[in-house]
Amino acid sequence: SFKALVTERDAAGVVSSSVQSLDEGRLPEGNVTVAVEWADVNYKDGLCLTGAGGLVRTYPHIAGVDFSGTVIESADLRYRAGQKVVLTGWRVGESHWGGYAEKARIYGDWLVPLAEGLSTRDAMVMGTAGLTAMLAVDRLEANGLKPGDGEVLVTGAGGGVGTVAIHLLSKLGYEVAAISGRPHLSEELKALGAKTIISREEFFAAADKPLESARWAAAVDSVGGAMLGKLLKQVRYHGAVAAIGNAGGVTFETNVLPFILRGVALLGIDSVMQPYERRVAAWARIAELFDFSAYDSFVREITLHELPTAAKAILAGQVRGRLIVRM
Ligand code: NAP
Repeated sequence: SFKALVTERDAAGVVSSSVQSLDEGRLPEGNVTVAVEWADVNYKDGLCLTGAGGLVRTYPHIAGVDFSGTVIESADLRYRAGQKVVLTGWRVGESHWGGYAEKARIYGDWLVPLAEGLSTRDAMVMGTAGLTAMLAVDRLEANGLKPGDGEVLVTGAGGGVGTVAIHLLSKLGYEVAAISGRPHLSEELKALGAKTIISREEFFAAADKPLESARWAAAVDSVGGAMLGKLLKQVRYHGAVAAIGNAGGVTFETNVLPFILRGVALLGIDSVMQPYERRVAAWARIAELFDFSAYDSFVREITLHELPTAAKAILAGQVRGRLIVRM
């Protein structure tokens, strides 16, 4: 048997989770079985654990959109027992049982081998949040961004995507500005590589105009909503915004002026369905760039038992950096 955080929905529709012991026979379909060593907590895990957003359709469920660990057995010729692997995305933890368990059964198509130079713990310090931050930087650079172009803005700076994006951009030599609703994090965000911290209030203080003074060479936005609408009007000529998330809202208002007068590009970033080659390349670049010891103060380890509380905290925007789950 193996331990797992089982999420259930009662007749009244109330969703709750508890740590239980399950028989191996309960593992879902798949061709690779993994001994999970680490999982993590992303915004989406907060949704899955609380039943918000309707992402989970079938109960009982095991959430956890990411995990890392060691292959126990594999019918996929690309993977063998003993190999270290990482899973992010593919709707694991939503429509297929995920990483909040000592064992997971998935399809080899969804895995990547652990990148050289990373531990399984490092992989979950990154998780979907970090991988997506890397994919956003890759995409902005493919669109022409290079160090020296000017300030790059990171929103939701204190969260998972935000903190990793700040550190990656600064390692690559970009001048990073960051917006945070938590001014008390300023010194730590600067230590991570942000040069300028702007409070959320300060950012929204200036009256909205159809086009505002051009400041950002690019932006990595995990907040969406009104913040995305406003920052688009402040992007410099031929700049681009990587839209990653919706922590601050789904809909936003915009107008065509940033696009037709400044040639601004809005680039959508999805990590869930990224093809294998791009994932492997992004993980290799993380392994090369990211200084895990410099990021350590933004990592907190929790256990399966602490996940229900962590889910509420991440939805409330209270998680600082990354939460990782020790199995
Ligand atoms: P997170 O750790 O909670 O970070 C989100 C941050 O946004 C918060 O820490 C907070 O930072 C800020 N924020 C929260 N509520 C806000 C509000 N109402 N208004 C303005 N700012 C707010 O979550 P995450 O795991 O980094 O994920 C961030 C977002 O990206 C989520 O929407 C997630 O679903 C999305 N995402 C998408 C992909 C993809 O494939 N596209 C992948 C990963 C994540 P401050 O307190 O510093 O302001």
